[in-house]
Amino acid sequence: MTSTSSKQPNALIRPDKDTFLSEENPFEAMMSRFDYAARCLNLDPGLYKILRNPEKQIIVSVPVPRDNGEIEVYTGYRVLYNTSRGPAKGGIRFDLNVSLDEVKALAAWMTWKCAVVNIPFGGAKGGVICDPGAMSPGEIERLTRRYTSAIIETLGPDSDVPAPDVNTNERVMAWIMDTYSMHKRHTVTAVVTGKPVEMGGSLGRREATGRGCMIVTREALRKLGMPIQGARVVVQGFGNVGSIAALLLQEQGARIVAVSDKSGALHNPAGLDVPDLLKWVREKKLLAGYPKAEAITNDQLFGLPCDVLLPAALENVITSKNAKDIQAKIICEGANGPTTANADKILEEKGVFVIPDILANAGGVTVSYFEWVQDRGGYFWEEDVVNQRLERIMVRSFEEVATMSAKHSVSMRVASYMLSIDRVAAVHRLRGLYA
Ligand code: GLU
Repeated sequence: MTSTSSKQPNALIRPDKDTFLSEENPFEAMMSRFDYAARCLNLDPGLYKILRNPEKQIIVSVPVPRDNGEIEVYTGYRVLYNTSRGPAKGGIRFDLNVSLDEVKALAAWMTWKCAVVNIPFGGAKGGVICDPGAMSPGEIERLTRRYTSAIIETLGPDSDVPAPDVNTNERVMAWIMDTYSMHKRHTVTAVVTGKPVEMGGSLGRREATGRGCMIVTREALRKLGMPIQGARVVVQGFGNVGSIAALLLQEQGARIVAVSDKSGALHNPAGLDVPDLLKWVREKKLLAGYPKAEAITNDQLFGLPCDVLLPAALENVITSKNAKDIQAKIICEGANGPTTANADKILEEKGVFVIPDILANAGGVTVSYFEWVQDRGGYFWEEDVVNQRLERIMVRSFEEVATMSAKHSVSMRVASYMLSIDRVAAVHRLRGLYA
């Protein structure tokens, strides 16, 4: 295989400049960026073909007895996109919108994400089509255990290591760990990350994705010469990632002017009190009804005057329809795939500095890596050690992507794909092709 040495992509400013892509299919969104970065890297055609295809795609039917005695059958997926750099790594989501294309895209993003932060993992993702909001804890436990047993051949600390994602949490990870361990006849903590701290989880893991978002936002503000003190931040999604990012950014001096969840959005130009909001959500579950802010719609949120917009929920929320209204100077992608490829072009023309998902939300998988290391070593770190090591990796990765972006005159998004594809390709070249 020939080298993937970088070339100056003079004529190439943005991915598929004149092509309008589907705004719904996240796999196409991922592929359009991949193709463009591969062209910029002058990637060998053979490697291009290898990296365009997932290594393994598993589809399972998961029968579960409901509480009323009836049996429901759910469809589950696990996709291992690439394992050249190490065990497959990536979360499992329970959601009605799960599809094979979505899981494939998310597994590919995990591959690039682990390579951007240079941790020794490949990329994977899993999902089950279900509505966990309409299921009892017992039903969710039975679903989790049956899904785990259905994909058990792929799982293992050296082969495939799940973690939480949309609508899954520490509780679900504990059930996966237990089910896997019962099959193996001994306790295997390192088979999943994002576990409860009492059973081999890492301190700082729960906050890690939000903390990583705070770190890269702080670095982006510094790079653009904007003070964090008083910087106006809009956060879309107030789950684990959005709420922690908001809290930590506020602690750094930023002003959180709006937040949203599925019940609607809240706006207060003077700044919201994030600990108070968290208290409200702990009691009431949703943001709706919070008295110390003006209720606005989720659509209005994207057009608010602000310095930083932090989408921290699901895919495809910044599209060709609303990108032109965005006033933020920085977008920090806490979610996976929140911006469509068509919106990328509009944002780039407007000069918005986008910190791409595979860099911005990589704090979670970075501390997952720390958890896996701690489980395998049987020696656990203090929280400040976890946070310092996370800080170092996020700052270094931000700088590496920014350097790539300056060197090749490409956006941070394209630079992050170039950096990660180059790293994965380098390992493929060193390992050679087993035939
Ligand atoms: N689901 C998270 C992500 O998308 C975490 C993955 C992990 O820790 O393995 O990055």
